[in-house]
Amino acid sequence: MSSEEAFRALPSVDKLLQQPAIVELVDRYSQPPVVEIVRRELMAARAHVAAGEPAPTIAQLVQNIVVGGDVLWRPSLYPVINATGVVLHTNLGRAPLSRAALAAIREVGRGYSNLEYDLDKGQRGSRYVHAEELLCHLTGAPAALVVNNNAAAVLLTLTVLAQGGQVVISRGQLIEIGGGFRIPEVMQQSGCTLVEVGTTNRTYRRDYEAALTPQTRVLMRAHRSNFSLAGFVEEPSVADLAALAREHNLRVVDDLGSGTLLDTAQFGLAHEPTVPESVQAGADIVSFSGDKLLGGPQAGILLGAADLIAELRHCPMTRALRVDKTTLAALQATLLSYLRGRAVDEVPIWQMIGADIHALEARAEGWAQVLTMSGVPASVMSSDSTVGGGSLPGQTLPTRVCALAVESPDRLAAYLRAGDPPVVGRIENDRFLLDPRTVLPDQDNLLLEALRRALATG
Ligand SMILES: *Cc1c(COP(=O)(O)O)cnc(C)c1O
Repeated sequence: MSSEEAFRALPSVDKLLQQPAIVELVDRYSQPPVVEIVRRELMAARAHVAAGEPAPTIAQLVQNIVVGGDVLWRPSLYPVINATGVVLHTNLGRAPLSRAALAAIREVGRGYSNLEYDLDKGQRGSRYVHAEELLCHLTGAPAALVVNNNAAAVLLTLTVLAQGGQVVISRGQLIEIGGGFRIPEVMQQSGCTLVEVGTTNRTYRRDYEAALTPQTRVLMRAHRSNFSLAGFVEEPSVADLAALAREHNLRVVDDLGSGTLLDTAQFGLAHEPTVPESVQAGADIVSFSGDKLLGGPQAGILLGAADLIAELRHCPMTRALRVDKTTLAALQATLLSYLRGRAVDEVPIWQMIGADIHALEARAEGWAQVLTMSGVPASVMSSDSTVGGGSLPGQTLPTRVCALAVESPDRLAAYLRAGDPPVVGRIENDRFLLDPRTVLPDQDNLLLEALRRALATG
């Protein structure tokens, strides 16, 4: 076929639009974007023909157009089954929300609400009153403020309390957590000067004291979220810092990071400093995330004295960091679970962290049986889950996993990641492991179907 003939063999835009699969695509998305893709596909085909290649068939063109549309317009954010055993998996969205939180989002999100409307007075109110009572009651703090995330909370605090001044922090706490949050850079962004004291492993009260100048505004403590220091280590407690700060009219800012309301020791983990402990110890501002060990929506929670919290609230930056109604709704519902003493039963991350080892074993056993019956040798093994999300570094929870001995665990992993829904597991000693701890109970069947499909394909 000459290239002249090849050009003539290409269908028109109208002809392609009449193909049943394209008609269906138009039904799904509407005409203009589909016409755009059809034109683009024909342009590409003409370029190929001009380069001496044969004209694609109508079937090939239709196939490309349909795939192109679905790739372009399919939502790019969707659920994934987390079989990694990492409870607060930052890349997989951290804390799953409780039923109550989801119901609250639905209720408040589907219509109007009193987000910024004072129903008593019939006039403008403040979104910042929501969740504040609950936060104060649960933590013992006099006042609270909720912003977009904890990074925003720290940035806001340092900007308001220390801009133009100095902030003293131990060399052992100049942390970087994931996603580009580094304490020295946050300080720079806040317009304050970092004054590092002590050594990596040992810092004493006297180190802070020796660093004080007339420009000092804040003594800061940052929780070492994602690594641990062990051995010959020393640092003053928040209470020590608070005592020193009072003597010199300074503020203590405690960035707790994960910020738990429950004692993690009850789950066989190390004791993570709790929010009430930090408030009690006298930190002027305590900040933590809503979606780490609190198990709620993404948010940054700030606690402190009423005058300080008011100062933060009135900073123009707060307007840029404000939270949406759905966040406040989910946060309130999550906090209510704590208030009712039901967090361990109702908040998914605590259900996962507190999961009974026999229940985990039974689930792993069930999966292994189903898979073995489908011809894939699977067995139950002991392994470790982690909490993740920048909390409890180095700490693990004993678990039972379903282990698959397949020829290529990497290929299985890639196939499962490409599935619908995608499944993410982990590979250890050449086995593909599925940890039931982080798989929601109602996802068992979906998981097994995804595995059967992947294994049937080889
Ligand atoms: C996680 C963390 C942050 C950041 O919190 P986000 O809610 O992710 O913004 C800040 N400081 C510490 C110590 C953390 O662990």
